[in-house]
Formats: sequence, structure tokens, C-alpha cells
Amino acid sequence: MKVLKFGGTSVGSAQRMQEVAKLITDGERKIVVLSAMSGTTNTLVEISDYLYKKNPEGANEIINKLEVKYKQHVNELFTTAEYKQKGLDLIKSHFDYLRSFTKDLFTLFEDKVVLAQGELISTNMVNYYLQECGVKSVLLPALEFMRTDKNAEPDPVYIKDKLKNQLDLHPDAEIYITQGFICRNSYGEIDNLQRGGSDYTASLIGAAVKASEIQIWTDIDGMHNNDPRVVDKTEPVRHLHFEEAAELAYFGAKILHPTCIQPAKYANIPVRLLNTMDPTAPGTMISNDTEKGRIKAVAAKDNITAIKIKSGRMLLAYGFLRKVFEIFESYQTSIDMICTSEVGVSVSIDNVKHLNEIVDDLKKYGTVTVDKDMCIICVVGDLEWENVGFEARALDAMRDIPVRMISFGGSNYNISFLIKECDKKKALQALSDSLFNI
Ligand code: ASP
Ligand code: MG
Repeated sequence: MKVLKFGGTSVGSAQRMQEVAKLITDGERKIVVLSAMSGTTNTLVEISDYLYKKNPEGANEIINKLEVKYKQHVNELFTTAEYKQKGLDLIKSHFDYLRSFTKDLFTLFEDKVVLAQGELISTNMVNYYLQECGVKSVLLPALEFMRTDKNAEPDPVYIKDKLKNQLDLHPDAEIYITQGFICRNSYGEIDNLQRGGSDYTASLIGAAVKASEIQIWTDIDGMHNNDPRVVDKTEPVRHLHFEEAAELAYFGAKILHPTCIQPAKYANIPVRLLNTMDPTAPGTMISNDTEKGRIKAVAAKDNITAIKIKSGRMLLAYGFLRKVFEIFESYQTSIDMICTSEVGVSVSIDNVKHLNEIVDDLKKYGTVTVDKDMCIICVVGDLEWENVGFEARALDAMRDIPVRMISFGGSNYNISFLIKECDKKKALQALSDSLFNI
């Protein structure tokens, strides 16, 4: 069985929902994971914000506006009076529920309940629409099987077990629709898998049912070998190893949420990225297969800060790096790139919230220099160390660009450069020209 996930824009209007319905009704049994309609989760966050701030009027105004929009969607989506009514009843019940929060105490628990409404509504709408079209579709309530444990990590044993129970209730169904993103925590309270978490849901479900494939449908044409907004020509990447996809996902390749990769990788289930706007295009396949000796893509991440700590004391010392890293840990700041020499270490960070405190603390251990407005350029592909010549090709492309740090050997799939943000375009173009010859 396949698991298909459609993101917010793919279900962002009545028409888009109808197109999704067409796409998924090919007679094959499948599980379909849906996000909330695009923009809805953001609006729910805004509603929560007003409620936290004890401004029920502010919240009500947004709730009512959103309800009007949903009533329009329902009118456009359904054709029969019966289903239009079902749709309107659905909308009313969820929005009445949202309005009920404006009267009571508002805590983190209620916040999560508010955020869950987007997926609950979108899945019900699509399920009703499929039923109106005569398709054997049922809802699998995610809150009955998607659960995190005491460490807030998904609990695969529970998920597998409870999901099976839910599927067994409907042996004749053709399509199982379920909510992405939402779950229960170990206390049974409503929770979620963090923003953008629907991909994670799809991957966890795929692993739980041993799916033959997990498909992530968005409105973009698969993964590209470079950033189409920055360089002249890019080409879609047809195949990536899970590790290559993980490197790219960190670099904001928006197409796939980083958390989605691990469950699919461990269960060895291929993930295919497909485009709802161009459903017959081959998209990008992500699996445990490596294409030997190929560089696949380059990507960039802006707003990086480099910090260098230079110290004679580091020479032949042990424990120096630990002390340095502990400072970053104490300010909950994660380090991305690291380069070391015998007398110094440079690291890069993307979260500068505690930069001043970090620099202050680091000064105990050496001379500290900070470079702001930097950018990481990451080259992804089969960069196993025994392959000869690939690092040289990437380095050669960067010959006219001042490079602050180079990192190679951290994984078999990546070489990263830290450069100035203002050199990003030039670097990406040069890498495209020399690595992909386009
Ligand atoms: N609706 C949620 C969000 O906007 C989850 C998702 O779309 O993946 O973050
Ligand atoms: Mg989304």
C-alpha cells in the first residue's frame, strides 16, 4: 500500500481539493495524509496568540473571518444539497468549538487543540467530497494512533498497533484519509509534530504499514540541482540518497521536512516527491540507493555567523573543544560547520539570539573573532572519500571566491564552504557551471 501526503497548497482551495480527489482515485488502496488548507495553521497560531494575550475580541474577529472563508470553500466544493449541508455543519461545529476558547482559561494545552483544527477540517472536507463522488473513502482519526512518548518522540510500536486496529475497522475502504501534523502526547493530550510536521506523519505511517512507497505531493517540481531563484539554469534531480536529501533539507530545500527522512530511511521505504501541478512528471525519488560518483545538487543557507576562537592553550591540550562546545550548549545554540587547527577552532551558527553572551564566555578560552552575513554553500552527492577528484572540482569552481571555512569528511555526501553572503550568487553559478555543465 502507498502513503500519499498532500501539503497545504495542494488542498488550498475547493478546486485544488477536487484535483487531489481525482489524483488519488485510481482504484488502488492507499492512505492519504493531508495538511490544513494553506494559511490556516498560521491563522490558528494568530488566534492562539490573541487568546494568550486575553484578547477574546481579537481572536473572535479572526475566527469569524476564517469561518466565512471556509463556508465559501464548502459551497464551491460540494454539488449536492446533502453534502453542502454536511460541510456547513462540519465548519460550524469546528468554529463554534474555536469560539468556546474565547471564554475560558487559555494554556499550552488549549493552544495545541486550536492548532489541530486545521487538519481536522481539511481531512473531513476531502473525505466528504470523495464520498459525494461515490468513492469508498473513510477517515482514520490520527488522534487514535499517532502518539509521542515521554521524550516527545513518536512511539513507533504504539503507532503501528493502533493504526492497524483503525485500518482493520474498514477492510473494504479504498481510500483512507488522515490528518498530518496532529498527534497525542504520552499523557493522551492533543499535541503536534511541530510546524511542517505532516511530512513526518506520512513517513511514520509509511514505516508503520510497511508501505511500498511514500509520496510527498507539493506544488513544486521535485528537488532541483541548484536554487532556481539564484542561478540561470537548474535541472530537476531525479534521484537522491536519503543522506543527500537530509543534507539538502537542512539547507531549506523547502520541499521535504527534515524529520520525514529518518523513519522512511530505517524502514527502507522510498520517498517520491511529486508535483500536483504536473502529476505525470517523474519528480524526485529518494531511497537508500547511491548513484556512484555523481554530484547531485548545490544549495545555500544565508544568515550564518562564523566564530573563531584562537588560543595557544589549545596546542596539545585536551578538553578544549568540550569547553567551547559547552558554551554553545548552555545557550541552546546549535553549531553547523566546524573547522579546527592545532591553535584554533572556527564554528558557524545560524541562531544569533545569544551571540553576545556566547562571545563573552568564549573569551575565557581565547581570542574571539566574529564574521556576520555569511552563507554556507553545500555540495551534495556521492562524495565518499575514496572517490578521487570530486573535492578538487568543487574547490576549483570556488577559485575566485574568498572562502572562510571548508568542511569535508563529516559525511560521505557533502562538502560545505562558508563564504560571504554577497558572493553567494557567484558561487552557486560557478558550481553549477563546473559541476553540472549547464
Ligand atoms: N499545517 C501544519 C503547518 O502548517 C503542518 C503541515 O502543513 O505540515 O505547519
Ligand atoms: Mg505545510
